[in-house]
This record gives sequence, structure tokens and C-alpha cells, in this order.
Amino acid sequence: MNKIFWCKSCLNMSTRPRITFDSRGWCNACQWAEKKKNFKFNPRIKEFKKLIKKIRKLYKSPFDCIVPVSGGKDGSYVSYILKKKFGLNPLTITSRPPLTMDVGEKNLNNFVRSGFDHIHITPNEETMRKVNKYGFIKMGFPYYGWLISIFTSIIKTATQFKIPLIVYGEDGEIEYGGSKENLNTLIFGSDYIEKIYFESGYKKVMNAAKLTKQEMFWFELPKRKDNFELYLTHWSKYENWDPYDHYLVAKNNCGLQESKVQNSGTFTNFAQTDQDLYALHTYLCYLKFGFGRATQDAGIEIRRKAMTRDQGLNLVKAFDGMYPESYIKKYLEYYKMSKSEFNKVLDKWANKKLFTKNTKSGIWEPKFTIGEDFFYK
Ligand SMILES: [Zn+2]
Repeated sequence: MNKIFWCKSCLNMSTRPRITFDSRGWCNACQWAEKKKNFKFNPRIKEFKKLIKKIRKLYKSPFDCIVPVSGGKDGSYVSYILKKKFGLNPLTITSRPPLTMDVGEKNLNNFVRSGFDHIHITPNEETMRKVNKYGFIKMGFPYYGWLISIFTSIIKTATQFKIPLIVYGEDGEIEYGGSKENLNTLIFGSDYIEKIYFESGYKKVMNAAKLTKQEMFWFELPKRKDNFELYLTHWSKYENWDPYDHYLVAKNNCGLQESKVQNSGTFTNFAQTDQDLYALHTYLCYLKFGFGRATQDAGIEIRRKAMTRDQGLNLVKAFDGMYPESYIKKYLEYYKMSKSEFNKVLDKWANKKLFTKNTKSGIWEPKFTIGEDFFYK
């Protein structure tokens, strides 16, 4: 018998890719949350400043680094802190997501107008649609093309402008649960991107999408022969990363507004409000692993002690895994798929050990109870 269990401190599931637990049954995100309260970030900040100095001397670019932004709280926060606290001049860049939400576009405009240099990259939307569709089918990842471009199009721009430092927001593996391989490493490379972020599916999806050389431009990983040393880092490595604090800073300084309606499948309205495919992504995550967006959001609140595990449990039970009914029409139009083709993809990715299909409604229903050890053959 195999056992599926939930973190004893937050509500992370043992099915979460790459996650590890200690003898108390705490997941690696909770272990890190405990450790980082007294963690000395200062040596890391020193490293960061040293790197900036080195880059300034070598490249003499008017920009010290690139910060990928979407208009959301985290990228806005990182840009703001680097500019105001560290006196840096970041070039902010957005790779335009598919199916943008109005509130996301408004927030991006507000952010840019709060005083940042900004480039908006729009990879050809038909190409993007193609890669997203194959990502949905082959990886169960509905915006795989955009995920790729968040790295590749920004690295491409960094190379063109000779700005070798890119500062991403959080290392989700460490903050939310996953691989610990980069726990003590500040700089990451394209191998980490391929393995962790692209879930080793980059070649599979790109082979299926069959892009022409021109279409490939924004989706290409950096080649070794580019011979340009690139430094990719996560700002969560340099301070006690707190998404709610970022929300407040971005709201007060960068014009961030929350969504008027609650996000699909969770209880929050201030995170991930830039594009409509996110609701499908978290629903697929639920079908594959048994947890969705509410688990992720509750975990953040529990770890920052704004919520007890029991309160989180009630919210997760109420919201997690909600079928994104109101978006389905939009998704079918976007992927140019029929409802039955679309459902086939969901059926393919649903974890049959964890779910059974309700033959009447066609919706996958959990066999497990959230928070209670579950055994399967
Ligand atoms: Zn945990």
C-alpha cells in the first residue's frame, strides 16, 4: 500500500513534486519558514552587492539588472526594493501572457507609471497559442508556452542588451515546497530552468509544436556558444520572503489593485490576477496531485502565522479543486478545441489513484479526505 499524507504544519501534500518531509512530518517549505526567521541574510546581500559592482565595471550598462514583472505584487515589490532600497536601476520586462485579465493589464500600467523603465515583449500570439496548446496536451500545463517565454524571451533580451543579471521573485521550490537542491545556492542556470520549471518537458512540447526558426526566436534557451555569462537569481534568497507584505508595498507604491471578484478555486483576490489560464493550471494541478490553489494560498498564510492549520483546512475544503466552469468557453475558444477534446485532456491527466469520475456530471471526484492519510494500491 502507498500512503498519501499532508504536512503536519501546513497542508502541503506528499504528492507535490520534489517535496521532502522531516521526522516531524513538516514539509521543506515549513522547515525553511522556521529557519528563515533567524536566518542571517546579510552575507547574501553582500554577495549580491559584490555581483552588482562586478557587472557595473564589466558592462557599463545604464541598467544594473532585469526584473521580470507582470504588474503583480511580487515583481513590483522586487523592482521597487531594488530601486528604492538599493539604489539600482532595474530594467523591468514583461512577457505578455495569453488571455490577459483587465485587472492584470491595469496593474501593469499602474506599475510602469509609478516610475520604471519597461519593455513589453509579445511573442507572436499564434505561436504562443500553439505552444500553450501542446503544453496543455503533452504536459497538462495550460500555459507552457508562456512559462517558457518568461525565461527565454527575457534571457534573450538580457543577451541583446548585455545586462547579465536577472532577478526573479521567489524560488517556489524552497518557499512553497519542492526541490531543496538550490537551498544554499544564489545563482541558478538554464539546467535548473529545464529540469524544475519546465518539468523536463521542454523538448517534448517543442518537438510537438514544430515551430519554424523564426517562431522559435522568443522560445529558445540560451546556447553555450553565446558566451555571455548570465546570472539568474531569486530575490527570495536575500530576505524573509512574505507575499502579503509585497502586496502591501505594491499597493502603496506601485498602484496595485486587487481583483474585484475572488479568484477561481481559492479564497484570495490579490495573487495571480494577470491571466485567465491560471485557473485551469491550478485545476489541472488538483487533478494530477490532489491539491489546488487554496492549498497553496493557505500554506502561505499558515507559514506566516496569519492563519491556523485548522482555519486553512476549512478553506481548502471549501475552495480547492473548484472546476473552472465560468472559464471553459474561453478556454475552448483559445485552444480551438471542442468540449470533448478538452475533456479528454483533463481525463488523461486526472490521477486515477486519487479521483473517480462522476459518470453523471463528468467531473472528477476525490477518493481522499483532505488532511487524512490516504492509502492506495
Ligand atoms: Zn508544510
